[in-house]
Amino acid sequence: MDIEKEKCQICGRPAKNFQFAVFVCDRDECVEQAMRERGGPAGHIKAKREAEERQKK
Ligand SMILES: [Zn+2]
Repeated sequence: MDIEKEKCQICGRPAKNFQFAVFVCDRDECVEQAMRERGGPAGHIKAKREAEERQKK
């Protein structure tokens, strides 16, 4: 995968990293926003818990 050819999905600058399933540049704010959009490092676990909570009601 050639990251340099991709663009940061937050600001559109050339991407430096592939994190949280999106391309991001090296700015902290972009990395943080990408993390928020994905629900955090444990986003899939949180989503699963919320789904289980809904089933109880
Ligand atoms: Zn960026």
